[in-house]
Amino acid sequence: MLVKGVVFYLESDLPSEAKFLLEDFRLTVNNAIRAGLQARVTSRNALCRLAYKDLRQEHPRMYAKHLVSAFEVAGGVLKNHRRRVRKGVLCRIPYVKRLMMKAENQAYKLDRKSGIIDLPIRAGCHVEFKLVVSLYHRKYLDDVSLSLGSLTVLPDRVIVAFRKDAPRQYTPESVLSLDTNERSLDGLFVGGDVAKAVKAEFPEVAIIQQRHHDRRKRLQKKKAHDRRTSRNLCRREGTREHHRIDHRLHEVANAVLGFAEDRRSAIVLEDLTGIRPRKGRELNRRLSIWPRRRLHQIIEYKAQWKGIPVVKVDPRNSSRTCPICGRIQDSRMGIEFKCECGWHLDRHINASINLLQTAISNGRAGGLRFNPGAFQHDVMMILYDPVKGARSESNGTSGICGVT
Ligand SMILES: [Zn+2]
Repeated sequence: MLVKGVVFYLESDLPSEAKFLLEDFRLTVNNAIRAGLQARVTSRNALCRLAYKDLRQEHPRMYAKHLVSAFEVAGGVLKNHRRRVRKGVLCRIPYVKRLMMKAENQAYKLDRKSGIIDLPIRAGCHVEFKLVVSLYHRKYLDDVSLSLGSLTVLPDRVIVAFRKDAPRQYTPESVLSLDTNERSLDGLFVGGDVAKAVKAEFPEVAIIQQRHHDRRKRLQKKKAHDRRTSRNLCRREGTREHHRIDHRLHEVANAVLGFAEDRRSAIVLEDLTGIRPRKGRELNRRLSIWPRRRLHQIIEYKAQWKGIPVVKVDPRNSSRTCPICGRIQDSRMGIEFKCECGWHLDRHINASINLLQTAISNGRAGGLRFNPGAFQHDVMMILYDPVKGARSESNGTSGICGVT
């Protein structure tokens, strides 16, 4: 089952009854967390058995399903806390600061035509509020194959979870193999007996990262006498950075997936999980690997939603191996990969050929073959161009540009 959370803003303020409910819910969650910590339990059912009676007395009129869902939220917080403790990270007793509540799918009603939510507060008391519905939201509301999951209510917005069964992946007719770099995805597209280089550039991501990194450094210096302020300001910088980068990565992912879907391609990516910069100077010099991991996350997630097959392969030596003779070069290359056998190619595209060959030799490329000799050096397909991409519709579906 796949789940996608969609954010809706409210047409007017949340009714005051609902605001009280948020306060009560937060209180219940925090009480359940405390009870769970003392008794060392984290599962929803165990928390329920443990604390239901007491909390029922404290909130005699709260809708029972909301109470149970408070245990679920508390359980999630407790599990995260336990994980951190096991890792040996120093942390405080957790509690929920943000005003919020979560309702299970049977504990609220959403009229998908009008966008009106009906939320029970307690016996005999319901509130209704209207959501702002745009074209983007209509896509989810009108799709009958999507069912409704939980509802998260925040003071100014709600998050509706839409669920669907994972669609069957199509049988690939071509392959799009991509090497992920700091400023671009580079690779090749193989379909039939043609093989062409492809590129999706996102130079802004590295620029944004660098800018926010510098800004954080400056803030830390300026507020060195006040660690609390410094920490808060840095956190705010970090959130802004994430939002700005995320937006751009989504556009790149949409362009890549649109291209793959049109040509019924499988996507080959390198597995980035083991990669981590060495400590110290290198950590300072190199930009974090986070945006690249995040880009993979977005691509994989969206591909699942659309039924596009994605293959992850071990990237070891992919940037140093010659795809023709198999020699492994030991020095770092410049822009171009060169081998004694005469093969030479753009370093990144060469890496993507190696990724593809690994996928083929593992038998995970759907019976497709690739002959490096068929590669057309002079052709470059642009999957995503940040200049044109920025001008595309704000829903980000038309990021694909001219194909040469
Ligand atoms: Zn060679």
